[in-house]
This record gives sequence, C-alpha cells and structure tokens, in this order.
Amino acid sequence: MEKSVRRKFTCRHCGKFVYVDGFSHVHEGERLNISVFSQGAEIESYVCNECGKVSIFLGSKHYGSDGKETIAVKNRIIDKYIYPLTEAAKQIKYVPAKYMREYNEAAWVKEISPKSCALVCRRILEMILENECGCNQFNLSKKVEGYINSNSVPNLTEQAMRYIVGAGNAVAHDKKDQNDDLIRIKRKDCDKLLDALEEVFEHIFIQPKKVEQMQKNVQSVTPKK
Ligand SMILES: [Zn+2]
Repeated sequence: MEKSVRRKFTCRHCGKFVYVDGFSHVHEGERLNISVFSQGAEIESYVCNECGKVSIFLGSKHYGSDGKETIAVKNRIIDKYIYPLTEAAKQIKYVPAKYMREYNEAAWVKEISPKSCALVCRRILEMILENECGCNQFNLSKKVEGYINSNSVPNLTEQAMRYIVGAGNAVAHDKKDQNDDLIRIKRKDCDKLLDALEEVFEHIFIQPKKVEQMQKNVQSVTPKK
C-alpha cells in the first residue's frame, strides 16, 4: 500500500528546511495467534528538492484484535528519522576544525546516548582549556577555576563552563542534586550543553578574531600623524 504524503523538515544532508512530496509505505500488522495486538510500520521517504538526497522516517502502527488501527498506544513511534541517522555536520566560522569534529560527534550521539554527549562536551572544554588557554591543572573543575580567576571572563561564558563541568561530572561520577536525587542528563539537556559549548567557542575563538578584524578596520581609518 503506497500513498503520497507531504512533509516539512530540516534535511539532514544539506541542513535546509524543506517542504516536499514523498511516498508512504505501510506494513500493516500481522494477525497473531497469541496476542490481541500486532505492530506494523509506516515508512515515509522523501527526496530533498534542494540536494536531491533521500530522507526516511519511521512510524509504528498498532492494531487491535478487530484488525483496526489503535492510535492511543504507549511507546508508539512517531516520526523517527531513520535515514540519515545523523544531522549535517555544523561549521562555525573561526572555530578550529578539530573542535568542530568533536562538537559534531557530541551532537550525533545525543539521540542515542545523552550521557555520551555530556562526556564529549566535557572533553571538548578540557581540550580547549588545556591546548588554547594553557590550563594544566589536574582536573577539569580546577582548570575552569584557574581560567576564570586569571582571565576576564563574561558571566555567560563562566556559567556555560560550569554547566558543562557539572553535567559531565554528574554523568561520570553519579553525582546527586540538592534533593539528594541522582542528576540525570536527558536528550533535551544535550541541546543546552551544545549551546553552552557555543558560548565557550564564542568567547575563546570568535570574539578575539572579531576584535582583531575591527582593529584592522580602525587602523585603516586612522590618519597618519
Ligand atoms: Zn537536502
């Protein structure tokens, strides 16, 4: 069974937001002997009108003993992006490629393992403080304190660093929150961690380059004495 469908989504190949026609292929649930429920699948495929590559989404379909589809089902899969599995790699101007590779790896694993994402974010912060800022203290918390104490750091950057350290430590060492509950890192926290990393990139890589550029601009309009 095949029907035409239409969907708006961000293409993971090219990163563009598209609205395209596609096809839906449905595998209806099989009738089982032992269970009243059966599970089927709906697969939608689209070809991006920007880059020409195919994207595939999966939904699960659930059927009752009467053979009719049941909509309200726990653990129903809706709109899961199954191909390509990962988003288009992001590039941020002025951020060195080695850190962007790590950043993209953190973004790719967030769907399947938020804990891994938090650990990669923590690793990136540690690499930057060590390689770019000369912080050689024993652990990451000490590196962050050392960096904050000996540099002029905007409050937002400071909080972003503390957030990355806190989330990474929580995952690495099973830390508890103020209510004595285990701190958990979920999928939506990963987006906040990636935003925090972008704040760090902004302060360490992007702003200095912009300042350098603006100084050149000033130089170009400064009259000869
Ligand atoms: Zn595309």
